[in-house]
Amino acid sequence: MERARHILRTVFGYNNFRHQQSEIVDTLIEGRDAFVLMPTGGGKSLCYQIPALVRHGVGVVVSPLIALMQDQVDALKQVGVRAAFLNSTQDAEAQRAVEQAVREKELDLLYVAPERLLMPRMLELLARSPVALFAIDEAHCVSQWGHDFRREYQQLTVLHERFPTVPRIALTATADQRTRDEIVAQLDLGNAARFIHSFDRPNIRYTISEGNSPRERLWRFIEREHAAEAGIVYCLSRNKVEQVAAWLEERGRVALPYHAGLPEATRRENQTRFLREDGVIIVATIAFGMGIDKPDVRFVAHLNVPKSLEAYYQETGRAGRDGQPADAWMAYNLQDVINLRRMLGDTDANEQFKRIAHHKLEAMLGLCELTSCRRRALLAYFGERLPQPCGNCDICLQPPKTWDATEAAQKALSCVYRTGQRFGVNYIIDVLTGKEEQRIVANGHVRLSTFGIGADFRLSQWRHILRQLIAQGFLDVDADGHGALRLTQAARPLLRGEISLQLREPPPRDAARKNTRKRPVVELAAADQALFEALRQRRLQLAREQSVPPYVIFHDSTLRELASRRPRSDAELRDISGIGEQKLERFGQDFIAVIQEQSEIDGEL
Ligand code: ADP
Ligand code: ZN
Repeated sequence: MERARHILRTVFGYNNFRHQQSEIVDTLIEGRDAFVLMPTGGGKSLCYQIPALVRHGVGVVVSPLIALMQDQVDALKQVGVRAAFLNSTQDAEAQRAVEQAVREKELDLLYVAPERLLMPRMLELLARSPVALFAIDEAHCVSQWGHDFRREYQQLTVLHERFPTVPRIALTATADQRTRDEIVAQLDLGNAARFIHSFDRPNIRYTISEGNSPRERLWRFIEREHAAEAGIVYCLSRNKVEQVAAWLEERGRVALPYHAGLPEATRRENQTRFLREDGVIIVATIAFGMGIDKPDVRFVAHLNVPKSLEAYYQETGRAGRDGQPADAWMAYNLQDVINLRRMLGDTDANEQFKRIAHHKLEAMLGLCELTSCRRRALLAYFGERLPQPCGNCDICLQPPKTWDATEAAQKALSCVYRTGQRFGVNYIIDVLTGKEEQRIVANGHVRLSTFGIGADFRLSQWRHILRQLIAQGFLDVDADGHGALRLTQAARPLLRGEISLQLREPPPRDAARKNTRKRPVVELAAADQALFEALRQRRLQLAREQSVPPYVIFHDSTLRELASRRPRSDAELRDISGIGEQKLERFGQDFIAVIQEQSEIDGEL
């Protein structure tokens, strides 16, 4: 363990292990198997990288994310670790060179795609060279229930059979119990030490808001909170992706579209720019994400409600992998709720599938309409209890007001009932507010007792109320036709006055966030902001010269520390988190020069 700590400090430049990292590292060094469940950004990589350096032989990392291997290997080389990868993107010669390096015992870490590892030739090669450990990354790919099933993963038990003395570590960020059980069973990890970490991502701030013009609100959010930072905006359709990207570009941001309808080359280019340049926004359908390892994504925004909390959690989880403050922001409106409800009735899927989909959507809408801590509800869904409200979600920061909406709800529900459960939201509101529209007159609905009984509320208020009634399952929406509303079983006790209903008040127009923002991490003082920018510029230059993403040089958190502490010597640099010996040597003088220069400009010398 002494050696592990030494490597943590001198190679990776970190002072302490995080969470259970040290126990996991210890387990592997002693030659035992481990099963690790940690959320994105938890620090899974070090768990096998360090033991691979401590143990004799090469550490073999199995990963399905071929697109990531290059960056991972680049990052390791930057800190002086001898790493390489083997996958189908290389030509035969490059592959031979890597195999040769394995044979000559010149590698500490080797990343391989599963299909490659399973080739007899590869297994032969490994049988003849010392192997430090096998790391099975994205282990949920072994599960048929998971979302990224890979057949080759099920054959990985061969590792255990052919290399019984080599320790294995399986890692995943997927939470649900069924997938976990399947990983352990399929990979024969019954005896492995288990490390189950909390799923909480305390640095992510959850904000969900409802109302009109979500786009305008998105812009205000980006402008106010992330004026120059990288983020992802998720939309449901390709069309909307294109529109929103163009719209953000008009407002002066670099915003690139990403969806399955774009040519492969365009997608690749946009993804590369997102990774390599600073402050790019990607506007994408859910096709974008798997294999995005960018640590400094500062916000993930949703302009549509995802279909499940699993999807929401996975997508928002791409923000703030570096542990620095990040935002998960979502806007939705009545139409979203209606569309989602309709979509459910629409599928030709079998009954069981529908029931599951229904349940998942219910939970998702529940999160949207919540009036208590969002993080608590999210974690509870994944089977984890948060003892206190989190203090870092929109509801904790600005608790919404609620009002007794029982009477208003009764008016709306009985209006739906008396008009025959055949009409959509707009018609119902027109009847409630007493509009003498031609259609309403023709249907004889002006004579109904519910005609005009809701005149005391404005149109926008009724939309707000109906949205919540639909979201909370008092009303159902017809899948075909024009979205007729129908009462559900849940509506009856409410209509009969057996239960009362509290709804949230609509937020005041453009509820500007008050200064209740307490970020878990100290923000940069204004005086250091210019230096931070200068350091970022230098980092971008170095990254371009070496054609690696900027974060491979230094993370934002390291730059921030440099900007606020302004080190002037190697000894002072060693103290900064994220600067190990190799980076000190390669970049130390560069960054000290920037600090000196900026300090002169700032008039400090
Ligand atoms: P995961 O694979 O679990 O998503 P990573 O291994 O990519 O997470 O780590 C996330 C971030 O945390 C990386 O930027 C990594 O450098 C950083 N990190 C990991 N362990 C530590 C540590 N002990 N101290 C400081 N930073 C760490
Ligand atoms: Zn909260």
